[in-house]
Formats: sequence, C-alpha cells, structure tokens
Amino acid sequence: MPLIKLTKLEKTYYTGGVETPVLCQVSFSIEKGEFVAIMGPSGSGKSTLLHILGFLDRHTAGEYRFDGKTIDDLSPDEIAHVRNQKMGFVFQSFNLLPRTSVLDNIKLPLLYSDIPEKKWTTLASAAAKAVGLSHRLNFQPAQLSGGEKQRVAIARALINKPEVIFADEPTGNLDTKTSEQIMQLFQNLNEEKHTIVLITHEPDIAKHARRILYIRDGQLAKDEKIS
Ligand code: ADP
Ligand code: MG
Repeated sequence: MPLIKLTKLEKTYYTGGVETPVLCQVSFSIEKGEFVAIMGPSGSGKSTLLHILGFLDRHTAGEYRFDGKTIDDLSPDEIAHVRNQKMGFVFQSFNLLPRTSVLDNIKLPLLYSDIPEKKWTTLASAAAKAVGLSHRLNFQPAQLSGGEKQRVAIARALINKPEVIFADEPTGNLDTKTSEQIMQLFQNLNEEKHTIVLITHEPDIAKHARRILYIRDGQLAKDEKIS
C-alpha cells in the first residue's frame, strides 16, 4: 500500500465569487521510503499540493489516501493526530518561535503528543544531535545562521519520528553552500528510511531526490525516476 495515493485530485479556490482552479486531475502514488522532489514554476500549484498532502488544506474533487485512509473518513481530531504523529513540516521561512531556545523550539510538536514531559529534553537533544546542533541547544533563533535555523526546523519535524517529512522550498532562503548541506541532511534522513517530499524550483536541489514530479499549470507534467 502506498503511503500517499492521489487519484484525479483537484483543487479550486473560491474567493469573493471568483473561481481559481489550481490543481487539475493530479494522480500519483508515493511509497514509504521514497525521496521525491516536486518541481515547477512559481504559481504552478506546488505549495497548494503540499498543503493538501499535509492535511493543511482540503482538495475539492478526486481522492487523497494517506496510509490507506482518505481524509474524508477522518474526524477533525483524527486529522490533527495524523498530522502531528505521522507528518513533519519544514518551510522556507523556518517558522521558529522567537526568543525561545533551540531545545524548546524542537520540543514544540511534543506538546500535542502523548509522550510524558520528562522525556522531552532527551528526545529534543537527540533530534538536535541528528542535525548537528548539539552545541546550540540554548541559543535563540536570532543568534543562529539561516542554515542553523533550518536545522532546528528539521529537528522539530523529526521529533515525533514521522512517516513523512514535507518540505516547501526549504533552501529558498539559503546560500548555495548551506543549501547543499541542508540537502545532504535530507539525503541522510532518507537513507535512514524517512519518506521525504520536497518542493523546489531549482534543478540543483531536485537532483538530491530519487524521483522528480513536475507540476505545470496545476497538472502533473512528468514523473521522472533518477537512477
Ligand atoms: P507555487 O507554490 O507553485 O508557487 P501555489 O500553490 O502557491 O503555487 O499557488 C498556485 C496558484 O493558486 C496561484 O495562482 C495562486 O495565486 C493561487 N492561490 C494560492 N492560494 C490561494 C488562495 N488561498 N486563494 C486563491 N488563490 C490561491
Ligand atoms: Mg510555493
């Protein structure tokens, strides 16, 4: 059973009486353990697609199955639970809490988990170690470089050992060298069996993935396996 299965998925925004079709008849599957890049020009619907995949938004037609279940069969509580327990998110703008330590930023998803609080520091320290940030645990975001901020966001995404990490242009605010390091980190995580779905519009970034889905005008234009 694929982890992600889209069948003729559609998304249309309805805003102020205006209909904006964004995704049209998108069908593909992603297996556990894959590293998939989603590429396409600005405005092609990549972020919309990722938001739907991450249960942050709803499609308007077609079907989305995550781990065999459609979102339509889940209650709001179950949706929140799946999102928190099985999905990790990394965004271009890092989305870290200011004036909050690296350790506490990484702990955030644990607030909504069943894991007892006395284990949080150990877990967050281990996640920080996994991204090479053990020496920065008590720093605040303002004291970190862009690359370090993104490492914190990745550690936070990893803390609940999610089935999949969704990343939307994670290197969009980083210089070339730092971007390479962050992509190396995603590659290492993938080698440790994490499923990764990562949006980018840069071919140099996409080449770290093992498969590239090209989105053009809201449609799947090409599905390319990289050997
Ligand atoms: P990408 O991430 O590929 O740049 P997006 O998914 O962000 O593209 O946007 C795709 C299209 O959907 C754009 O034309 C954008 O204007 C439109 N869009 C995105 N969000 C909304 C919204 N909330 N309401 C209306 N249109 C939207
Ligand atoms: Mg986008």
